Amino acid sequence: MKNSNIEIVDLWDHLLINPAEISTGSNTPYTVYGPFFKKFKGQLDKVNFDNEEDKDFKFEKLKDLDDELIESKLVTKSKTIFDEFLKNINFSGIGICPCRPGEIGAEKLLESFSSSNKITSYHLARDFPSEDGTSYLSGSLRFGTISIRSLWKKTLLLNLINEDTKKIQSIETWQKELAWREFYQHCLFHYPELEKGPYRKKWNNFSWNDNQEWFNRWSEGQTGVPIIDASMRQLNQSGWMHNRCRMIVASFLVKDLICNWKLGEKKFMELLVDGDLAANNGGWQWSASSGMDPKPLRIFNPYTQTKKFDPLCKYIKFWIPELSGINNSEIINGDISKLEKINYPSPIVSHNVQQRIFKTLYATI
Ligand SMILES: Cc1cc2nc3c(=O)[nH]c(=O)nc-3n(C[C@H](O)[C@H](O)[C@H](O)COP(=O)(O)OP(=O)(O)OC[C@H]3O[C@@H](n4cnc5c(N)ncnc54)[C@H](O)[C@@H]3O)c2cc1C
Repeated sequence: MKNSNIEIVDLWDHLLINPAEISTGSNTPYTVYGPFFKKFKGQLDKVNFDNEEDKDFKFEKLKDLDDELIESKLVTKSKTIFDEFLKNINFSGIGICPCRPGEIGAEKLLESFSSSNKITSYHLARDFPSEDGTSYLSGSLRFGTISIRSLWKKTLLLNLINEDTKKIQSIETWQKELAWREFYQHCLFHYPELEKGPYRKKWNNFSWNDNQEWFNRWSEGQTGVPIIDASMRQLNQSGWMHNRCRMIVASFLVKDLICNWKLGEKKFMELLVDGDLAANNGGWQWSASSGMDPKPLRIFNPYTQTKKFDPLCKYIKFWIPELSGINNSEIINGDISKLEKINYPSPIVSHNVQQRIFKTLYATI
């Protein structure tokens, strides 16, 4: 920013607690989320949630810059660059991507999430991809257009004014998700080798299938398994995917298609507007069972997941219009008749068969 005569100041504000300052009783980094969360919560009283100092700071540093100059030159310039960027990467999802660019966009998202009943019913709605149940602040946190302190401060204020225990519980559920973000950053800070491969080294000996044709079908949303295809189409078209769906497609790629999770991790980073090394790597290692998560082997059945989390197939039918006329029970059971499928493929694999193969391979490591 030398040419624009703008001073850049480096400040600690990406996380609530510096990963170097949080450790177990034996002075080692945390590797399990539960105990991490307990310690993390106990250390929050060290955090300064009062933003007044920051406002003064901004004012001091920016007072020499004329407001009009910022409005007319910088904003217009960055908007032009942004529009140009969207055109060049051929991204058409700006209208259907729920994340919003910029500081004002982030504040609006927070306002809409926290002033409605969304935050107080988060614990009920967050797992249903057809519902408007989460904050969509991941992109803003990723790019630092909103501070994690302002989000946490909001939860503290809401907890003070809410008396209903269910509502307080819901706000705490959201806090726990914000803490997952801190946890994965903590893990990557202390174990930078996570970026390169599995935390559990035995996975280096696993015989991946890595079938390119299957991987392409997964990437394009053409596997013939509706919940997988709906999710991957959402990602391709909008640059974002619901958390429940991220877990389902990750499990499917690793445990049904037997493809190395590193391929999926890379694909996600290419496409996600909130792509973040720590959260993405943590999410993939969790799904692949190669990470710090103590549960050894977790396999999601895509049909059972559909029945639980998209029982009316609203999400599926939105992203796969070819299936809009199909009976929900056929979609949920995975037995759509050939005659009814118009331009929609048959499943590339059988979940039950692949699960058996995967478990046999897993037994060898
Ligand atoms: C395979 C996989 C890959 C993922 N890749 C990313 C990624 O690249 N970037 C990213 O920000 N999140 C990632 N996540 C986590 C999660 O899916 C998204 O943070 C969430 O869907 C964003 O939506 P939201 O902002 O509406 O979240 P909300 O439910 O409103 O949660 C609030 C915030 O908490 C944080 N958060 C929520 N869940 C998680 C989680 N499981 N892990 C870490 N942080 C979390 C996010 O910053 C999120 O914005 C991934 C999860 C999986 C399973």
